[in-house]
Formats: sequence, C-alpha cells, structure tokens
Amino acid sequence: MAEQVYIGLGSNLEQPDEQISRAVASLKQLPECCYIADSGLFKSQAMLPEGGEAQHDYYNAVVLIETSLEPLILLDHLQVIENNQGRERDYRWAPRTIDLDMLLYGQMVMHEPRLQLPHYDISGREFVLYPLQRLCEKLQQIDLEIPGHGMLSEMIKSCPRNELVYVGEIA
Ligand code: ATP
Ligand code: MG
Ligand code: MG
Repeated sequence: MAEQVYIGLGSNLEQPDEQISRAVASLKQLPECCYIADSGLFKSQAMLPEGGEAQHDYYNAVVLIETSLEPLILLDHLQVIENNQGRERDYRWAPRTIDLDMLLYGQMVMHEPRLQLPHYDISGREFVLYPLQRLCEKLQQIDLEIPGHGMLSEMIKSCPRNELVYVGEIA
C-alpha cells in the first residue's frame, strides 16, 4: 500500500536553490514513488549549533510523495541523493549542499536511531511547518495530523515565523 511521505529539503552551500532543484529532480526519479507536489522555495536563517559561526541563509522546501518503499529503504535512497550532491557531515548542523529529512511517513511512529518518525524536531522548525502548510493549501487539504503532536494548524500557532520568507516556485 502506498503511504504519503513528506520530505524536508534544506541547503546553504554551492548555489542552494539549484541544489534543491537537483534533489527534487532526483526525488521525481525514485523507484516505487510518485511525486505529488512541493511547497515551493523558502529562505530562512541558518540554525546554528551552540557557539557556532554564522552561516549563509538556507533555502528550504517540503515535498510530498506517495511510495510503497519501506521507510528504511526510502531513507537509503534519500541518503544516496545527499551523497551524490556531495553532502558532508563535518559536525552537527554544519553547512550542507543538501539535507533530506523524512518528516512524516504516513501516520507511522518510529524511534530507531537511524530513523525517527515523525522527525524529532518537526514542531520547532518554522522552515518545516510553514512550507508544510503551504503545501497543504496547494493541495486544498484542510489540515494535516502529525502523530504525537496534533494538527498542523494548531502547531503553527506556537511556532514563530522568524525570518522565513517564501521566494517562489522551485525551478
Ligand atoms: P537534524 O536531524 O537535526 O535536522 P541533520 O538533518 O543535519 O540534523 P543528518 O546529518 O542529516 O542530520 O542526519 C543524521 C542522522 O539522522 C542520519 O544518519 C539518519 O539516519 C538519522 N535520522 C533519524 N531520523 C531521521 C529522519 N526522520 N530523516 C532523516 N534522517 C534521520
Ligand atoms: Mg535536518
Ligand atoms: Mg538530515
């Protein structure tokens, strides 16, 4: 059975908007996956590690796919896309060419180190919740239930937008 999976994309290195476009093109090619829609492109200030140096702004987006791939197999595919785009993991929240985080896999709840579902910080990130909201609006979907958190429309009320801006469609 196909599940609806929301994937969060982020990039702040090496022409980030192009990195997002490239990752979206790869997501459209994944086996056993059907690309449904995306949020469009947003820009946000970098989330820095404690005491970390300033970083370039991020480009972000959220994508919805339907897939019959098992969650860990899908994660393998996402990590291949990250690696193909030169993703390095120097330290936590280091600048990156591309980050692909599985935000939701249907209503699945999973607490394995390699995969936590929903994403562990889904409620605290404006660059996730606002693109998710735009994506729902695009699909004329009234709301979205996030397991363990409640409804997106309620969660967004306690998540300040900060410097997040919508910049346009993904090229
Ligand atoms: P954050 O998770 O805070 O957004 P990050 O995305 O920079 O930080 P990564 O280096 O991309 O972190 O991933 C670290 C590990 O997190 C990965 O090796 C992966 O196995 C694990 N992980 C756990 N849950 C998820 C998820 N929902 N989506 C993607 N990776 C996950
Ligand atoms: Mg991340
Ligand atoms: Mg990640």
